[in-house]
Order: sequence, then structure tokens, then C-alpha cells
Amino acid sequence: MYFGTALVSMAGALHAQVATGGRDAAAITARLQASEKQEDDFSSRGFLGAPKDTKILDSSGRVVWDTQLLGTFDDESRKTVNTQLWYQARLLSKSGIFRVTDGVYQVRGLDAANMTVIEGKSGYILIDPLGAKETAAAALKLVRGYLGDKPVVAVIYTHPHPDHYGGSAGVVPMADGHPAVPVIAPTGFNQAVLDEQVLLGNAIGRRGQFQFGKGIGMGPKGSMGAGIAVSIAQGQLTLVPPTVLVDHTGEKITVDGIELEFQLTPGTEAPAEMNIYIAGSKVLCLAENAAPTMHNLLPPRGAEVRDARAWSQYLDEAEKLFASRSDYVVLSHGWPRFGREPARQFIEDQSDLYRFMHDQTVRMINNGLKPDEIAETFALPDGLADKWYDASFYGSLKFNVRAIYQRYIGFYDGDPAHLDPLPPVVAGRKFVAAVGGAQRVIDQATLAAGQGDLRWAAEMLDHLVVSDPANQPARTLLADVYTRMGYGSQNAVWRNIYLTGAAELRKGAVGSNILAGNSNLFANISATRIFDILSTRVDPDKAAGLNLSVRVQLSDTGEDLLVSLRNSVLRSEKFDGQATDASLSMPKQSLVDIVRYSQGLSSVKSDRVSGDQTGLAKLFSVFKRPDPSFPVVTSVLNP
Ligand SMILES: [Zn+2]
Repeated sequence: MYFGTALVSMAGALHAQVATGGRDAAAITARLQASEKQEDDFSSRGFLGAPKDTKILDSSGRVVWDTQLLGTFDDESRKTVNTQLWYQARLLSKSGIFRVTDGVYQVRGLDAANMTVIEGKSGYILIDPLGAKETAAAALKLVRGYLGDKPVVAVIYTHPHPDHYGGSAGVVPMADGHPAVPVIAPTGFNQAVLDEQVLLGNAIGRRGQFQFGKGIGMGPKGSMGAGIAVSIAQGQLTLVPPTVLVDHTGEKITVDGIELEFQLTPGTEAPAEMNIYIAGSKVLCLAENAAPTMHNLLPPRGAEVRDARAWSQYLDEAEKLFASRSDYVVLSHGWPRFGREPARQFIEDQSDLYRFMHDQTVRMINNGLKPDEIAETFALPDGLADKWYDASFYGSLKFNVRAIYQRYIGFYDGDPAHLDPLPPVVAGRKFVAAVGGAQRVIDQATLAAGQGDLRWAAEMLDHLVVSDPANQPARTLLADVYTRMGYGSQNAVWRNIYLTGAAELRKGAVGSNILAGNSNLFANISATRIFDILSTRVDPDKAAGLNLSVRVQLSDTGEDLLVSLRNSVLRSEKFDGQATDASLSMPKQSLVDIVRYSQGLSSVKSDRVSGDQTGLAKLFSVFKRPDPSFPVVTSVLNP
């Protein structure tokens, strides 16, 4: 999508990088630009006001959000930002409270997601309480300032991604430690929070730094947001667990005089997700199932591949269920669609987008094309390619079609040469030798970069840098190439990835793992799940030959488990009177600390220990915490 054959010079790089499949890129770009006015109108419509302070602070005075993160969008800023991305970032930067229609409002631009506000008879129903306690509280303050000081009567999570529930503790009224109002979420919410956040948290957190450009600064020389949102708030992530789970499509719940009708959309953008129809106002909330950008079927930070066909089918169902009675569509990210026909057209176009990607990728797979060949030639039809909201600002067409390939037939492309590839460092050394040495690679890469062939320059230099990370001229040259690729990217995530890669080549790893400090999640996890996570931390060298079973009782939660280790596999099950080598009682926090810090037994706070102490100490010494700052632009493995 971004660096196709169109990218031949820096001058052209910032403008026309639309996947064209051989068609006229300029014509498609012109049609895209024609829709900018429409998006500008929709993203401003109903603006009531912005918060007085552009910055939101936490209790220690640290800035967790700034509505001016991306700067002022002046002419200077255009020089280092792709034209369409510049415009998209400007649209996403509009912040404040907006009236959608009578009784329905949105707070936008105060965090990654939107908070949608429904006025009930006596108070406010909030859909998606943002991603941090502080931003959620600031949003609610803004709502009360403009609409009146009324209580929150219900909170709804559309899906289990942290930017949509992390601010819950800032807005949900509590009584005796429990929510005093209904907290509504789709069925499967709790499990999905854990599955997506915890098991792969370390890798996804580290790779997330690249995806979201954490550590490169914000603005025209750094991150221009994520294409679907400006940034992620740096405040306190909280989760008030849901009290009401919606378990079927068509379910209706009346809260504070407002009838809400739900459509479950599991396995789309999230494992559990739902759309919400607000009958009284003729407003359809499409959660994150639709957005003013193509979404990710596979976010580059890493995830299981999402189901493009199901995604499209649920949008079709939404159109059938609601379009004929919806005058407005609101979204969890970005701005609304106003009017019945624009709303319907939007749903249809987003559905067609995912279905077209799915069907045509499958067609190409069946015709023998390999993933990179599909990515290179894939082009949207005119009716989708010229829609602003179908463009690759967050998700990317090239990445998504490769994701569909991966979902259906895996990472192997069928070529025998790719059955047993050499690891990057070895392949790098051999490539450099075959070309004729490091200087020759640098010369060739300089030549390619000078001709605008940045992808080939990057590919050659990557071989050199990976095989010889100390080669400073190669690192500098590759960093320059990545910078140019970043500045040219229409896709905000690709821009972040290239610029973060460049920064790491120049200065070493930047930023910190964005999930590493997240302890709140663990508080809600069962002991069995914590041991499942611990089993993925077992170091087989340390566990070699160990065969142990231990009874573990959690003194505060009452959980009572049999934990066994054999063949370096750790299992846990309900304790049922089995014989064990030792037993141990401890508070749950101690178990959480083992996961977070991989502590040995000696540093674990235990209430009671009995049986084979040596075995027990060994059991708690086999875990190895993953490195939260593992190298990405170079290789962990250096054979
Ligand atoms: Zn989101």
C-alpha cells in the first residue's frame, strides 16, 4: 500500500502511495481528497466545546494526555508527513464534547477511544469509559460542564480492549467496593481481557512500542498517531468488572428510560464485541466494528488473525437489523456518520471492504500466489478505493491480505526454499559475503536509496545490520532509509514502526514496554490461569529432570490446587486429596509477584510451608521472566 512501485522519489513519496494494481494512482488520490471535506464536516459537526486545560494530569502532576499532542498542523508539518495521513491526524485531533443528536453526545480526542454519552431520564449512560481513570474522569467533567451535573446511571463496554474500559474506575459509581450501577458488556468479555492481554503481554507490549511509536515523540518528526486515534493515554488502567453480560443478538435492556438493543459480534475486531442501537434517538453505535479507516485483521504488534469474513457478515447483519431505522452511526474511534443514507452507505462500504479483501485473497491463494505477491498486486475496486474511511490509515491492505493468507494456510508459502530458512544472522552474513563485503552492501544500498528504491535498500542493509550490529555506517544509513519510509507512509502504524526502528538504530532501544507495568489485570485472574502463564515461563534447562507435585492453597481466595511439574510442563488442577511432595499456602498477591517478577520461593510471602522444602524451592526457581526490552531491529539469536 505504501511503498509500491509508485515510490520512486522523495517528492512523490509523501503523496501518492495508494495501492493501485496498475491503475492511475493520481486519480484515486484525487477522489480520496474529494471526500476530505465530508470527513471534515462530520468530524466537527455538533462541537460544543473543549476542556479548558489541554493537558490531563494524574494525581502526581504527570501529564497523561494532551489534546495538542500532534502540534499545530502548519505547513512546515506537512513536509515530513504523508499528505493523507496528515489530514487524517488533523481530523482525529479534534477534541472536546460533540452533540450527535438530541440526547446523544460524544467526548472525542481526550484519549484513544470515544466516550459516547446517552442522556437518560435522570443521568448519563456512558458507552466506553476510555482507557485511563484520569481521562475518563476528565471526560465526565466535560460532560457535566456542558450538559449538567447528573449522575452516571450505567456504563457499557463495547469490547474488551483496554482503551474502552481502562477508565472505568474514573466514572463508575461504587458502593461498598461494588458498582452501584449496571456495568454492561458482551458475553465473553472477561475471558477475552485475559487472553489478549496476559499470555503474550511481554511480546505484544514490546512490539506495541513500535506499533504506537512510544519513544519517538509525537508530532511531524515523530508519531502522527495511530491512524484510528491520536495516542493511548498514559494514565491508570482500571477495570470495574461487568455486572451484566449481553448474551444474544436482539437482547433489549432499558436503563433509566432508554431502550438499548444489542447485536453481538464475536470474533470480529475483538473476541467479544457488540453493537448497540439506541431506538429513541435513532443512533447506531458500531463499536470498533467500523471506523474511519481500514482496521487491522492482524495488528503488527501481534495477535491472532481476525476473521475478515465474519467481520463483514456482522456488518451485513447490522445493516439488516438497524440501517433502515438509523439516522446516525457513532463509533468507538473517530467521528460519526450523519444521515440515514450516509450511515447505510458507510456500513455497506466497510462490510464490502473486509469481504473483498477476504474473497480476493482466497481467489489469489487458489491461483497459486504467495503472500508477498498478493500484497504487491492487491488493489481495492474503485468504489472502495476512493472512500476515505476505507483507506489504510490504521490497518493496511498489504498487511491484511497477508494476514488472511496466514489465517487460512499458515506462514509457509509452499516454496521448498522456504521450508527450512536460515536464521536472520546466518542469512545476513552469507548475503553480505555473497555481495562482496559490507562496503559493497552499503554502496549498493546507497545507490538504491538514491533511486528511491527504499524497500530494496532496507532489505540489503537489514542483512548487514542484523549480522553485524556494530557496523555504525550501516546502522545510520538504514536509519535514514527507515526515516524516509516513515515520512512517506500513509499508514500511521507503519510510520511509527519505521521511525521507531530508525530511533533504535541510532540510539538503542527507546521507550519502555507498554504492558510490563500492568499489574491490575492479574488481580482478576484465577490461580489456574496464573499457573498456565507460569508454565510458559518454565526454563527447560532449569527444570530438567524435575518431577514434582505440590499443593498450593491461596489463603485469601480459598483456591486449592494441585500443581505438578514434569517434562518441563507445569500443570494445575483442583486439589482432590492427591499425594504431594510438599504443600504451600500463600496470599494471591505472592502468586502474582511470581508471575510479575519470577521470584524464587525465598522471596515469596508464604503463610505456611510443609513437606519437601528443597523440591519446593526448585519448583519456584524454574521460571524465567521474559526480557521486556528484547531487541527488535537486530536479532536475539546470534549463532
Ligand atoms: Zn479501540
